Amino acid sequence: MTDPHEEAWRNPAPPGFHWPDGIRAAACFTFDVDAESPILFDHPEAADWLDVMSHQAYGPRTGVPRLLRVLDRQGIRATFFIPGYTAERWPDLTRSIRDAGHEIGHHGYLHEGARSATDEGTEEALLLRGLEALDAVAGVRPVGYRAPNWEFSYRLPALLVRHGFRYESGLMDADHPYLLATSAEPDAATIVELPAHWGLDDWEPYNYLPGITGSGVIASPDDVIARWTLELEALVDEGGLFMLTNHPFISGRASRAVALERLIARAREIDGLWIATAGEIAEHTAGLTMDPVVHRRHATSPDR
Ligand SMILES: [Zn+2]
Repeated sequence: MTDPHEEAWRNPAPPGFHWPDGIRAAACFTFDVDAESPILFDHPEAADWLDVMSHQAYGPRTGVPRLLRVLDRQGIRATFFIPGYTAERWPDLTRSIRDAGHEIGHHGYLHEGARSATDEGTEEALLLRGLEALDAVAGVRPVGYRAPNWEFSYRLPALLVRHGFRYESGLMDADHPYLLATSAEPDAATIVELPAHWGLDDWEPYNYLPGITGSGVIASPDDVIARWTLELEALVDEGGLFMLTNHPFISGRASRAVALERLIARAREIDGLWIATAGEIAEHTAGLTMDPVVHRRHATSPDR
């Protein structure tokens, strides 16, 4: 008898993974409401630069409302990952996202990359501060986390489980959701991972702030959407998860939002494609019987 694991490479999906009945792939539209926070963290001096702050404030002031209208017209729900500082600075906007029926996830406090937190206590304090801000502003207790800059420490999965998170979205080693083990110990707790990728992020093609980020070459929305549509269609063929990450200060710009709406409309035409929030996809995944993925440290890792 053939071991079902022996030829696992023949199936794009990991053993044990399946979508709900009648579903062959999933698409998740997410928005990281970074606003001023990543610039203030990486370039604190920019707090005094109104030009730069206004560039970032475009997200909350103009981009988010426009994107909420897009989502409303298309009749889909999305996931908004909101840094605690953004929530405090833009409380009405944060509540409007909640009230429009979208999921709110955790995205750090001041968008601190994990590489800046040198110890577990610091990382945990930032996690708690972000939770407190979302609770105080919107009464929301998120079940999902997206690491700022997608910087991810080996200790983070266990920290997230300790604080009641059900999923994380940002590792880049798979096309399907999976169960991520919090340690290499047998029977270690798991958390759902919803993988993402830089290629499905609007920052690289669109964003430009002189001296801060971007090359100054700004892609056409036609080209960006064509690329994302190719990836959507390829992942549907593979039965995977299309996890798109946009930032309202970037993709909330007029023609980019029009192009994004075209992509959402295309996704809605695809038979058997489940357009869902990250939380919904994580909940489905948590109910599957799958071997967890264990990420073991490499021997050269400096903090071994
Ligand atoms: Zn971010």
